[in-house]
Amino acid sequence: MENQQFVVIGLGRFGSSLARELVDLGYEVLGVDRNEEVVYNMSEVLTHTVVADATDEEMLRSLGIRNFDCGIVAIGDDIQMSILATILLKEMGIKTVVSKAISTLHGRALEKLGVDKVVYPERDMGVRIAHQLVNPNLVDYIELSKDYSIVELKVPHTLDGKTLNELNARARFGCSVVAIQRESGCIIAPTAMDQIHTGDIMVIIGSNENIEEFEQSVNSEE
Ligand code: ATP
Repeated sequence: MENQQFVVIGLGRFGSSLARELVDLGYEVLGVDRNEEVVYNMSEVLTHTVVADATDEEMLRSLGIRNFDCGIVAIGDDIQMSILATILLKEMGIKTVVSKAISTLHGRALEKLGVDKVVYPERDMGVRIAHQLVNPNLVDYIELSKDYSIVELKVPHTLDGKTLNELNARARFGCSVVAIQRESGCIIAPTAMDQIHTGDIMVIIGSNENIEEFEQSVNSEE
C-alpha cells in the first residue's frame, strides 16, 4: 500500500472529502475537476490539482493518468460523464478503478464496464444511520457479505463486569466477540474469562440475523 498514488475525478462533496482524507493518510492525490473554482478550493489541500474535463482523453493521457495505482470517479449526478470517465480510466490501464453510483442501475452499468468497486455513498450512509438510530449502542458495522457482518457495540452499564463466558454470545446467539476495545487498549481474540465494562466496545462477528438478536438482547437489558 505504501507510496500508492490516487487520482480523484470530480471534487464535489464526496470526491473532495475522500481526496482530503487520502492526503491526511499520507498518500499522494491528484484531484481533477472541470470546475475551476472547485479546483482552486482544493489546490492547497491536495498534492496536485488540475482543471480538466474527465472525458478529454488527450488531457488525461498528458497527465500520465495510467501511472496512478487507483482512480476514483466521484462524479455522481451526471451519469453519462461518470460512465465515460470510468471507461477512460479502465482503458488507460489504472490498476484499480472505483466509481461512485447514485442508483442501482448506474452501479450495474459501472460493473459491466469492469470497474473494480462501485460505491454508493448516499445509500450506504442512509442505511448506516438508520441502524444507528434504532440501536443506540451500535457504533459501526461492516457488511462482510449479504448475510454476515462485523458490528461494534457499546457495552451498556447492565453488562458491566460480565465475563464473555457469562455473556455467552456464541451459545445464546451464534455470534462471537472477536475484540474488546477500551481506552487503555484493544483485546484481540479475548478469552472466555475476559471481562467487559461499561463504555467498552465489543467487536462482534456473525450472521445478520444472529447479530440482530444479540443487539436486541443487549438493548433490552438497558
Ligand atoms: P457530491 O454528491 O459528491 O457533492 P455534487 O452533487 O457536488 O457531488 P456531482 O454532479 O456528483 O456534484 O459532481 C461532482 C464533481 O464532479 C463536480 O465538482 C463537477 O464539477 C465534477 N464533474 C462533473 N463532470 C465532470 C467532468 N466531465 N470532468 C471533470 N469533472 C466533472
